[in-house]
Amino acid sequence: MPERVRCFIGGKSVAGTGIEIPIIYPATEAVIGTLEEAAAAEVDAAVAAARDAFDHGPWPQLGIPERKAMLHSIRSSLLENAEELAFLECLDTGVPIRTIRGRKMDRLTGNFELFAESLSMMAGQTYQQDRKFLTMVTHEPVGVAALIAPWNSPLSLATTKLAPCIAYGNTCVLKPSEHTPMALARMVEILHEAGLPDGVVNLVNGRGPVTGAALVEHPGVDLVSFTGGTETGRSVMSSAAGNLAPVALELGGKSANIITETADFEQALDGALLAIYSNNGQQCLAGSRILVQRSIADRFIERFVERAGQIRLGDPMDPDCEMGPLAFREHFEKVLSYVDIARAEGAELLVGGKRAEGFEAGYYFEPTAVLAPSNGLRVCQEEIFGPFAAIQVYDSLDEAIAIANDTEFGLVAYVWSEDLHTITRATQALRAGTVWVNTPLVREVRAPFGGYKSSGVGRDGVRDCLDFFTEQKTTQIPVGKLSLARLGAGS
Ligand code: NDP
Repeated sequence: MPERVRCFIGGKSVAGTGIEIPIIYPATEAVIGTLEEAAAAEVDAAVAAARDAFDHGPWPQLGIPERKAMLHSIRSSLLENAEELAFLECLDTGVPIRTIRGRKMDRLTGNFELFAESLSMMAGQTYQQDRKFLTMVTHEPVGVAALIAPWNSPLSLATTKLAPCIAYGNTCVLKPSEHTPMALARMVEILHEAGLPDGVVNLVNGRGPVTGAALVEHPGVDLVSFTGGTETGRSVMSSAAGNLAPVALELGGKSANIITETADFEQALDGALLAIYSNNGQQCLAGSRILVQRSIADRFIERFVERAGQIRLGDPMDPDCEMGPLAFREHFEKVLSYVDIARAEGAELLVGGKRAEGFEAGYYFEPTAVLAPSNGLRVCQEEIFGPFAAIQVYDSLDEAIAIANDTEFGLVAYVWSEDLHTITRATQALRAGTVWVNTPLVREVRAPFGGYKSSGVGRDGVRDCLDFFTEQKTTQIPVGKLSLARLGAGS
C-alpha cells in the first residue's frame, strides 16, 4: 500500500505542490495514506506531457497491430496484478471485495480487450457516387483528452474512457476522485510496466473544484470525458465550452424500477434488491424508485423490507460481506439527511434509516426504504446515491410509466413482467437511455450506454467511443485529370 499518492506525469512520479489530503479507509475511518494534490503547475505539466506525446511521440502514429498488441499486453499485466488492484479499490471505496474481484475486474480488463478488438474492425468509408472522384473518410485521433472519473467504481469507470481514448491514438490526463485515488494510481504504473510509452497516460490527483477544474479549463485539452454528478457535469460542460472542446458526460440517475402484477414475483424481488443495494447503493444506474402495482404491493413491500433488513453489512474485505460502508463522511451525512427530508414530506420509513449498529467506526448506513405518497417528494426526485429506496404504489401501467418519466433524469429504467404487451408498451414509452426487462444491471459494453435529459450527453459503447475519440477526415482525389474552369485565362 503506498504511503503517498502522487501525480504521474511523462512516465514519472511527480510530487503535487497543492495541499495534502488524508486518504481514509471508509470501513474504519483510519488514515491510510496521503494524497499530494496537483496544483495548476502539475496540471500544466501533465497536459504538456500529453501534448508532447501526441505531437512528437510514437503513439498516435503507431499502426493498428502495434496499438492492439499494447492493449492486450496492458490487459495481461492488469490480470497479473488483479488481486493488488482489487485490494486497493476496496480500501478506496469500501465496496465488498467479492464484487470488485468479480464484476469490476472483469470490466477493467474487458475494457482493454474490447477496444483492442474494436481496432481490428475499424474501417473508414468511401463515396463513389461521383465517378470523377475518390472520396475517402478516415478516422484520426483527436489529441489530448481530459478524463474525469468518479469515486463509486474508479477502475471500471475510468477505463471505460481511458481504453477507447488511447486505443484510437489519443493521449490523456486522468483525474480520479480525491476520495478514491489509490487503485487508479497503481493502475497507471501498471500501464507503464506493460510498456505504454511515457506521456500517453498522465495522472493528476486532487479535489474536483481545484485540480479537476484546472484540467477541464486548460487550453491544451482537446476533448473532455466526464463521469460524475449532474451539477458538476454542467460546470464541466461550460468550462470546456471556453475552448470549444467536445464533451461526453455520463451523469446521475433516479431510475424507476416498475414491478407489475404480471412479474415473476421472486425474480423481481431479487432484482429490486440488487438494483438498489449492490455496490453499497452507490451507482448511477440504481433502481432507486421502486414502483409496485397495487395488487401485489403489500406482499412485495413486506418481503422487500424483510430481505433488506437481513443484508450482511460488514468488513468489505470479508468475502461474505454483502454491503460495506458508504465511501466518505460527507456522503454518509448526505444520505442520512434524506431520512429526515423523507419524513418531513410525509414518507413512511419502512426499514433502516440510521447508522448501522455494531460498528465502532466506519460509514455504515443501514439498507433503507421509504414508502412515498407521491413522486413529487425530494426522495423521489433527487439522486441520493446510497442504499435508499423510495417505494411508490401505482394502479395502471400508464400511471407507472408517467411516474417513471416524471424526473429530470433518464439514465436507465427497469420493468418486470411476463406479459409481452406490457413489456413492449413500457419499453417504448420509458424515456431512458437503457431499459432493462426482467433483469437488473446488465452492461453490454459494446452497446451504447448513456442518459436522456439530465443524465448525460453522448454515449459509451464501441461505435460512440469511436465517434467521440476520433476526428473524421474526408479526403477527395480526382480519378483523372480535371478540366477546370480557367479563371483569368481569357475566353
Ligand atoms: P462528482 O460530480 O462530485 O465528481 C465526479 C468527478 O468530478 C470527481 O473526480 C470529482 O473530483 C470531479 N469534479 C468535481 N468538481 C469538479 C469540477 N468543478 N471540475 C472538474 N472536475 C470536478 O460526482 P461523484 O464523484 O460524487 O460521483 C457520483 C456521481 O456520478 C453520481 O451523480 C452518479 O450518478 C454519477 N455517475 C454516473 C455514471 C454514469 O455512467 N452515468 C456512473 C457512475 C457515477 P473530487 O471527487 O475529487 O471532488
